[in-house]
Amino acid sequence: MSDATVLIVGAGQAAAQTATSLRQGGFEGKITILGEEPSPPYQRPPLSKAYLKGELEQERLYFKNAEWYESQNIDVLTNITISSVDADSMSATTQSGKIFNFDHLVFATGSRNRTLPMEGAQLENVFGLRNLVDVDALRPHVGPDKNLVIIGAGYIGLETAAVAQTLGTHVTVLELADRVLARVTSPIISAFYEDLHRRYGVNIKTRCSTSSINGKDGKADSVTLASGETLPCDALLIGIGILPNIEVAAEAGIKCEDGILVDEAGRTNIPHIYAAGDCAKRFILPYGRLGRLESVHNAIEQGKQVAAAIMGKPAPKLDCPWFWSDQYNIKLQIAGLSTDYDNFVIRGDSDNEKFAVFYFKDDILIAADAINSAPEFMTAKRLITAKAKVPPEWLADSDRSLKDIAAQFK
Ligand SMILES: Cc1cc2nc3c(=O)[nH]c(=O)nc-3n(C[C@H](O)[C@H](O)[C@H](O)COP(=O)(O)OP(=O)(O)OC[C@H]3O[C@@H](n4cnc5c(N)ncnc54)[C@H](O)[C@@H]3O)c2cc1C
Repeated sequence: MSDATVLIVGAGQAAAQTATSLRQGGFEGKITILGEEPSPPYQRPPLSKAYLKGELEQERLYFKNAEWYESQNIDVLTNITISSVDADSMSATTQSGKIFNFDHLVFATGSRNRTLPMEGAQLENVFGLRNLVDVDALRPHVGPDKNLVIIGAGYIGLETAAVAQTLGTHVTVLELADRVLARVTSPIISAFYEDLHRRYGVNIKTRCSTSSINGKDGKADSVTLASGETLPCDALLIGIGILPNIEVAAEAGIKCEDGILVDEAGRTNIPHIYAAGDCAKRFILPYGRLGRLESVHNAIEQGKQVAAAIMGKPAPKLDCPWFWSDQYNIKLQIAGLSTDYDNFVIRGDSDNEKFAVFYFKDDILIAADAINSAPEFMTAKRLITAKAKVPPEWLADSDRSLKDIAAQFK
């Protein structure tokens, strides 16, 4: 173990966690993180929040500074893309032909933005929002008297809309579905966010399909909708979801299915090769099905799992999935996955912007969306993990203590 080499492909959240957990767990071998971006591992959530707003320095995004990696004897090599992995010879090759040998290899390659298959989507002022370079490119187009059109009303589109609107930008959000956040939450939460954004002045258009992006001199200057309406823009942001970076793994013979398939310890079907984070698809507790999660919590949890597996230690205990989103003065905390719910109750008052929606399936609590309601979120996490059959009326009753409810399901 002390002279084993761990190669981590990708230098994001899952990579940083894997390396940190290995050292914390006493791993003494060589650890090398190889990332294609110019920066060392950094947090992405502030990119569409405080960093876009100009409230956070770039250095504050980094998980650790160069001295820390040096002190831990972790090599972080940036601007390096791994283009192939040979499982038999246990080696990985970079785009420029350099070969790295490994005893254990971790795919922590994350995901990339889906592109819009439309003429004009390649114009100079059409952006995605995935990494630091993207935000630095978008930022000059956000501010007073500028028109920003955002295609896609998922979390990234809406968080960007909130920051841009706060900074004085005229923002229009175009969404194909009949409501915002349709892929990830219930109509109640969608309606809450549509109302919130409209109150701040964002022009939200649902059931809206874009028919062309129009440009002049290499730059987009308007968007035409299927209805025939044309909206002027100074810049366009495309936020229509992400695709996992699985191609190198698939070519190496690793089983992939919209994600690199891993077991409960982060192991792929090939010995000594693991995957963690956005690129991995795993069994999700407590739902008993495979899924790919795109969240910080998932990247951290899987990074810890992989580190434990490499060190031959038992897999750490799993939590239910969770996520958050910050828009204006609203903090949304999401526990569990609400897909397929068959019943729900609301606790609190949406008019006061402080409430939670609890979702049930077959009488079991499966998820909660908590708006400015941290105790509801914390309680839901515990109850979901316990697969609790909580009477919905208990959770709907704001006078009933959450502590007392949780105590019934220990
Ligand atoms: C703008 C934004 C806001 C977000 N907000 C939230 C939030 O509020 N809450 C939340 O829970 N989650 C949020 N997320 C999601 C969260 O950041 C991701 O789930 C998390 O970063 C995943 O970590 P990862 O290590 O799997 O991938 P990443 O952090 O994407 O890192 C993967 C790295 O691997 C590199 N790479 C890929 N292929 C190769 C290769 N072949 N060779 C070398 N390097 C390679 C990539 O360039 C990238 O740097 C947000 C994401 C974005 C983009």
